[in-house]
Amino acid sequence: MTAQIIDGRAFAAKVRAQVADQVAKLKEKTGITPGLAVVLVGEDPASQVYVRSKGQQTIEVGMNSYEHKLPADVSKDELYALIDKLNNDPAVHGILVQFPVPDHLSETEIVSQIDPGKDVDGLHVVNAGLLASGQKAMVSCTPLGCLMLLRDHLGSLSGLDAVVVGRSNLVGKPMAQLLVRDSCTVTIAHSRTKDLPDVVRRADIVIAAVGRPEMVPGDWIKEGATVIDVGINRIERDGKNKLVGDVDYATAVERAGAITPVPGGVGPMTIACLLANTLTAACRANGLPEPE
Ligand code: NDP
Repeated sequence: MTAQIIDGRAFAAKVRAQVADQVAKLKEKTGITPGLAVVLVGEDPASQVYVRSKGQQTIEVGMNSYEHKLPADVSKDELYALIDKLNNDPAVHGILVQFPVPDHLSETEIVSQIDPGKDVDGLHVVNAGLLASGQKAMVSCTPLGCLMLLRDHLGSLSGLDAVVVGRSNLVGKPMAQLLVRDSCTVTIAHSRTKDLPDVVRRADIVIAAVGRPEMVPGDWIKEGATVIDVGINRIERDGKNKLVGDVDYATAVERAGAITPVPGGVGPMTIACLLANTLTAACRANGLPEPE
């Protein structure tokens, strides 16, 4: 059996087109243009690429993009003053500080400075708490993208066994919360999990968010399971740089019912969901009904 390939690139393009359409309607009806501010500290090359790509896609869907580039040695006070300014700027509906940041800054503390209503990355404890208690939250973009792909592929997730490998605040934990909300039976696995292969073999849905290249081999996958590979790992193979996931695609594709490739799976969904979250934030800030 060869798995169906879940095309995240095509699905993300559909989400962006829908967001663009909703943004155009919002502008026409209310004159409001959603705005996303992205803050980049330092000159990490991968972060620069992400920020550029986010800015371009923000503009493409008709939103305003505000980029703030700060030097690597910016003080905490200067960074927090900028966040405070953005929190109070009515033209800015979403704020994202690109991580990682230099060592003298704390990511947790930075997130706590952002107005929860503008926290389009869904990392503020208020949003994590709202999600965990089943209330309306800003949901972290990558898990939200994974959920959209799963719903699109499987329809109802109710009653399915899901295993999330990884328990980060950015991916693993919110992913597990979203799956519980959709009535899956969820196991969260991590580096201390006993007999990980056996845990993964029980799952109808496997989400791999570990950050270890090709760690999950095909023989851990239950025949027919749906596999969502969040990992983005740069490796060198045959003298070439390659991007691979946390799942060993070559063997998993022979066992899974469906699988996301890397690249072209979860990655494109993350920015699409960031745009969708910014639109949602703009509607909420103005007391307007949220887009479907
Ligand atoms: P973190 O490093 O924050 O978390 C990794 C998690 O994996 C931890 O919970 C860790 O467990 C667990 N883990 C590590 N080693 C093992 C192991 N041997 N067995 C089982 N579990 C293990 O990573 P993130 O959640 O931020 O990211 C995960 C991956 O997803 C990365 O490859 C990242 O690049 C990618 N990513 C992709 C995005 C996209 O847009 N597609 C967006 C965000 C991330 P413990 O807690 O016990 O240490």
